[in-house]
Parts: sequence; structure tokens; C-alpha cells
Amino acid sequence: MSKSETVWTIMKIINWTKQYFEAKGVENPRLDAEVLLCAVLKCQRITLYVDFERPLSEDELSTYRQYVQRRGNFEPLAYILGEKAFMRNSFKVTPATLIPRPETELLVESVVKAANILRPDGDAKLLDIGTGSGAIIISLLDYLPQAKGVGVDISVDALIVARENAGRIGVSDRIGFVRSDVFSKLPLEKKFDIIVSNPPYIPAADIAKLEKDVQQEPRSALDGGADGLDFYRRIAKEAPAHLADEGLLAFEVGINQAQEVQKLCLDAGFAQTAVRRDYAGIERMVFAVKAKAQPQEGDEKKYADLLLEITKEL
Ligand code: GLN
Repeated sequence: MSKSETVWTIMKIINWTKQYFEAKGVENPRLDAEVLLCAVLKCQRITLYVDFERPLSEDELSTYRQYVQRRGNFEPLAYILGEKAFMRNSFKVTPATLIPRPETELLVESVVKAANILRPDGDAKLLDIGTGSGAIIISLLDYLPQAKGVGVDISVDALIVARENAGRIGVSDRIGFVRSDVFSKLPLEKKFDIIVSNPPYIPAADIAKLEKDVQQEPRSALDGGADGLDFYRRIAKEAPAHLADEGLLAFEVGINQAQEVQKLCLDAGFAQTAVRRDYAGIERMVFAVKAKAQPQEGDEKKYADLLLEITKEL
């Protein structure tokens, strides 16, 4: 992108950037070149194809160059754009927050179903441990118009972003945020119908092997300790005390972790567990039901039916 005589049209600059990204090893070179240009021109991608001979102004070029340089350094696209689409909303994201992933939408979908079954009156109380941008809990409240939620994170910077997202999406009056290391600051008096979490689950030694983009996400949102299961151990053990009778614990898990997480839940006293796979066929979610204090005939079947309903493919 020299400043010389070249007139940088949309087409020319996309082709140049595509090659630049390709040489650097950026994963979707053309798509990223286009998406970044759309952010500069505040237009949709189709416009780039219609106006491909439109020259860029000096200001547009200068902003685009900065974006391209950042992406060339493997800064995630969502951090450059400042937002990421998740469910039916766009969430603000910053380097203080993990970027919401498409497979996490399946977790939200299962929990929405579970909330409607467990609380047909609509008044579900939900807790999200490690809320980050708030994508999970805010989406849940968006789809469950009477539900109330609490989002917990140890990172103040993440909570600031989550609170902003709650405001943007219009659920501020039904959500509270607490700075807490897992359950440490949560009172035991308040019981939740569902506790959901996508905790850090990458085994510490694997972090250096992750894609360069992912390594720019907060380590505190990725690192799950030596075997990746540290947070599941803590959450499974402490969750029953914060759950209502017949409440549900809903986890996203990493690759090859589902069986061990199920076992952790059963060891912690949960009555039944089930697994759901993601789009790639990977066991990605674990659900666990807490039994009533005084079990009754038919409970087992009821829990099995609930788990079947929320884990079945569409
Ligand atoms: N889904 C993220 C990844 O695969 C990890 C997020 C997490 O640890 N919860 O990179």
C-alpha cells in the first residue's frame, strides 16, 4: 500500500490486502480484508462488489491501513471491530473478554429450553460463572423475558463490558453483576434454578499451541490448569449449595473433557448427567440435575426426560 501514484480502489486494496494476509498466514485472508474494509466504509459486503472501482479517501485509507496492520499481527477480527455477533445480538468485546464462539450458542439454546421446562411460570433465576462479555447470561435473559440473572467474573474489566452489553440489549433491570472468584462472593441464601458456565478449560501446557489469534484472548479466560479441569472441579463441588432443588448445572467443556466432567458432577452428588455435541460432533456440553432433598417416585424419569429434551439435536 505505497502512497505513490496508485489510486487505491476498493478492488485494488482488497486484492492487495488478501495477498498480504495470505503471506502472513491469516486464516481467511479475503474475507477479513473485506470485513475490515466494510468497517471503515460503514457498508455491507455486497456494496464492495457493486462499487469496486470507488477510490478510497486518504482518511479511509489511513484507518484501513491501521486495521490491516493489526490483523496482520493476528489481533482477532472481533477486537478490531469491537464487537461479535452472538445469538440475535451483537456484543461489545475487548481484549479483557473472550470472544463468544458459535458453539456456545448451543449451550444458550439448551439452557433456554431447560428454563422453560423447570420454570413454566417464566421466573427462572440464572447464574453465569465467568461471564466475560456477558454473552451467555444476557442472551438467556433476552430469550427468557421474565427471568432474572447474575453474572460473575473475577475480572473487573470484563464486568464493565458485560454491564455495557446488558444495557445495549435492554436487560439491565433483570441482571446483576458480581466480582467474584467463582462462588466466593455469592451468598448461600439465594438459590438459582440454573447455573451455567463456559469456564477456562484449555490445559495450561496447550495454550502455547493455540492459534495465534486465540493466544491474544485473555489467558484467564482460557487456562484451566494442568488438565484443564480446575474450574469444573470447583464449580461442580460448590454448585449444589447454590442450586434450588431440581436445579440444573450447564457447562461448556473442552475436547475430550465431557466424561470426566460428568464424573465430577456425579461425585459432587448430582443425580443425573447428559452430554450434547457441537456442530463438529465434539462432546461440547455437560448438563447435571440436582435431585430434591426428599426424592419421590418418578423423579428419575423426570430428570432423564429433561436431559433428553435439552440435549437432543434439532
Ligand atoms: N472455546 C475456546 C477455544 O477453543 C476456549 C474457551 C474456554 O476455555 N472456555 O479456544
